[in-house]
Order: sequence, then C-alpha cells, then structure tokens
Amino acid sequence: MTRPTRAIVLGGGWAGMLTAHVLTRHMESVTVVERDVLPDGPRHRKGQPQARHVHILWSSGARIVEDLLPGTGDRLLAAGARSIGFHSDLVTLTASGWQYRFPATQFAVMCTRPLLDWVVREPILAAGRIELRERTEAVELVGDRTRVTGVRVREVPGGEPELLEADLVVDATGRASRLGPWLSALGLPAVPEDVVDAGIAYATRLYQAPEGATTGFPAVNVAADHLTKQPGRFGVVYPVEDGRWMVTLSCTRGADLPTREEDFASFAQRLRHPIVSDLIGVAEPLGPVFGSHAGANRRLYPERMAEWPEGLLITGDSLAAFNPIYGHGMSAAARGAAALDQELRRAGIGSAGTRRIQRALSEVVDDPWIMAGLKDIAYVNCRNLSKDPRLTGPDTAERLKFSDFISNKSIRSPQVCEIVTSVLSLDAPQTAMGSTRFLSLLMKDTSHPDLAEPPFRPGELELVGLTSPSPAGRGVLD
Ligand SMILES: Cc1cc2nc3c(=O)[nH]c(=O)nc-3n(C[C@H](O)[C@H](O)[C@H](O)COP(=O)(O)OP(=O)(O)OC[C@H]3O[C@@H](n4cnc5c(N)ncnc54)[C@H](O)[C@@H]3O)c2cc1C
Repeated sequence: MTRPTRAIVLGGGWAGMLTAHVLTRHMESVTVVERDVLPDGPRHRKGQPQARHVHILWSSGARIVEDLLPGTGDRLLAAGARSIGFHSDLVTLTASGWQYRFPATQFAVMCTRPLLDWVVREPILAAGRIELRERTEAVELVGDRTRVTGVRVREVPGGEPELLEADLVVDATGRASRLGPWLSALGLPAVPEDVVDAGIAYATRLYQAPEGATTGFPAVNVAADHLTKQPGRFGVVYPVEDGRWMVTLSCTRGADLPTREEDFASFAQRLRHPIVSDLIGVAEPLGPVFGSHAGANRRLYPERMAEWPEGLLITGDSLAAFNPIYGHGMSAAARGAAALDQELRRAGIGSAGTRRIQRALSEVVDDPWIMAGLKDIAYVNCRNLSKDPRLTGPDTAERLKFSDFISNKSIRSPQVCEIVTSVLSLDAPQTAMGSTRFLSLLMKDTSHPDLAEPPFRPGELELVGLTSPSPAGRGVLD
C-alpha cells in the first residue's frame, strides 16, 4: 500500500476546519473545498445560515479545540466571548423546575457563531499547511464502489468541472450534504439512516443588553415541559460579544414560532416564566428576527454498510446532526476530529483503514444522538422515524421515565447534577449515569426543596434595571 499523501476535505465549516487541521499532522497535502468565500473576520456567510442563532460550545468541545489549537480559549475571551459556568452562571427553568445554581463543574463558551468559527479558523489557515479552494463546490465523488479516488469540483457560479485526485476525501459539507446521491452514482446503496424530528424551529434576534449586564449577569434559559403534552416552547437570553444578548425563541412542532418582529415579544410572554420577556423589555433590538427549521436529529450509519469505499470518511453534521437545543453539534464534531487524530496516530490509514476510522467517528456521535433522540420523542407531535431499539423498543417508556427522574434530582442535588452535567456536556459518557455510584446517589435524599422563583443572586436583576420578584439569592449555592 502506498503512503497516503493527499487529503481533500469538502466543506470549510466547523467540522471541515478541525478535520483539515488534524489531517495536516498526517498527510502530505490537505485541500479544503468550500463553496463560500470564508470571511477574514467574524462575519456571516451564506453557507452557514444557522450562524444567526444561539451557539454554545460545551466545555468538552472547548477542551478539544484548546488541545488542537492552544490559546483558543484566551483569544475567544479576549474577543468578548463569555465562559458560563454550569450551573453557577445560569438561571434555568427545566421541565422539572428551577435549577439550583450549584458551583460550576463544566462551562460553555457563549459568543456569536461567526466569532467562534473565525477564532478557530484563523490560526488553522495561517499555519499555511492547507490549500483553501474557496468559491468552489464539490459536485460528485470520483472512483467506484470499492475506492474513492477524488472529487469533481467546480467554481461557483458557472465554472467548468475539474477533477481533484485524492487518497482521502472527507465529507464535511454539513446538513446540506449530497452524500446519498454521490454514493448512489458510485453504485452503492443508500446509507442506513435514522431520523427523530420534533419539528424544532428557531427564531433569533440580537439585542444590546443594558450596560450592567455586560459582565456578571447570568445566562437565562426557560425550557418547555414535555410532560404537559403541549407543543414545547423555549427561550434563552445568552450573552455574546460586544455587550449584546442573543435571544433565541424556539418550539417543537405545533407551536407558532414568531417570524415577525412584532410577534417576538408576545411569544416570549407565553413561555413558562416571563423572565425572557422581561429581559427583552429592558434591551434594545439590533436587527431583524432570523428563523431556522434545521432542528431534526438525523444520523447516518456508514459503519453498517456491507461495502464502504476506501478513501472516504464522513464527519460533522453530514454524519449526524442533532436538535440544536442541546448544543451538541460542534462538540460532537470536535470529538470526531480528536478521534480521527487518535486513529491516525495509532495505525495510520493502512489496509481497510478508512472503515476502521469511520467506525471511530461514528462511535463518538452515539451519545449525543441517543440523548437528543430520547428527549425529543417525549414531545407531542415528534416524528420518530428511527429504528434504534433504544428509541422504539419495549423499554423506551421506562427509559423516558428514568430520564425524567434523573432530571428532577439533578436540579436539586449537587452530586447528581455534577454527573448529569458532565454527561450533558459530553465530557463523560452516558454510561456514567448507569454507574453504581450514580445510582446510589439518586436513591439518597440529599436534595434541596423546590425553588419557587428564578434563582438570581442579590443585586443581579438590578444590574439590568429589573427588581427581584422574590427574596433574592435563594438557590445560589456557590
Ligand atoms: C439553529 C441551530 C443552532 C445550533 N446551535 C448549536 C449550539 O448551540 N451548539 C452546538 O454545538 N451546535 C449547534 N448547532 C449545530 C452546529 O451548527 C453544527 O453542528 C456545526 O455547524 C457542524 O459543523 P459542520 O462543519 O458539519 O457544518 P457547517 O458548519 O454547516 O459547515 C458546512 C460547510 O460546508 C460548505 N458546503 C456545503 N456544501 C458544499 C459543497 N457541495 N461543496 C463545498 N462546500 C460545501 C458550507 O458552505 C459550509 O461552510 C446548531 C445548529 C442549528 C441549525
């Protein structure tokens, strides 16, 4: 077997850039093919419409990025991103009630998505080890059912098709991936697929936060209660750079999502608590409302194919995309980049190597997949088109009940919360919630009583010009 030398990554988004960066450690040349022109600053672009909406980067993903690109965390903070401690810096109403603000054990980076992408992309490209083909789209894979040998691309708009030969092609073109038709043109059957679609829709608007909110004011989240069997309504007010709040309102199928500016505030008033609406009331809108309907959980299982062409990998949203409410997409993609690095360090590509590596990439999406799938099937009107026995089998109802029981404990018990948060942040595997230690913690009744009001610290609401609705400080335990 000749030593692989040329890798081509299709898509220069989050997964594509991290993957290309990892590949520069193992391949002689790496090319990224990207349909857009990638901005040289934190700016929006057409190929990433989701970037208008709230994006959090969980600590697990942030740590991987830091490992791959040392200094990223500091550069994000210097550019105005906030590191929000879970749960010390978050006021959140869960389906089970208000979450106590226990001392943080995990964190999430909060800033706009264009800033995140730019801060990560810049040093990757500046290292000069990647050839970037912008304004170029991948149109088909080249090869046969046993091996992919390259990709046909063309400049947009209207360029002539051009063949780029490669030893390894990685599809990182995101939710819009054309992998199905590309494989079919090579004579391969459809890749097995699972879909769980709760009909998630997002509406997002940026606000100038009151001056006092720029540091120290917590992130705020009001979630739906799936147990009511009504369509879910959610709202978050998350801090982003330049003293702004990003307000995202979202819903499951059947609730009317606001698409017009005049309906935005009234939707917020209909959430389970008025705090999001109150915060919108003291902030100044900075632009229009953006909508998104890209919220279904969709997962491919390339590892289950009887035949898989050598020289082809899938990663990022092309492989598995999740309901964005759980904030898992970017961390899952970062875990994929880390898994790729580990596999290439361990054994290189080698004989039948692509299949082995793809299995490793597929493994790391299983936890976010099952977490999101299980939560989403609890919503009324969810379309469960999955064949995953964990989501369709006889014990699914029991799993749902257990998940609700855990959530209920987690908001009021610091020890339970620590483990649940490590799983939710993808820092620990799902199996951590099946350990003997965890199960015995669940059974102990060390939990705090219900919180009647949002657990703001004394003086926090005053920072943004609101008055405390109740004796302030309850539920803040750090
Ligand atoms: C509304 C919303 C909110 C979200 N919130 C969060 C969150 O809070 N936290 C989180 O972790 N994740 C979140 N996600 C998920 C996150 O956006 C994705 O997981 C992440 O962007 C995946 O990266 P990717 O590189 O696979 O895809 P993308 O970042 O979408 O990149 C795909 C790239 O491929 C390019 N491309 C597409 N087709 C072609 C082609 N044929 N040829 C060349 N280039 C092509 C596109 O231009 C784009 O640059 C959210 C998603 C949505 C929809």
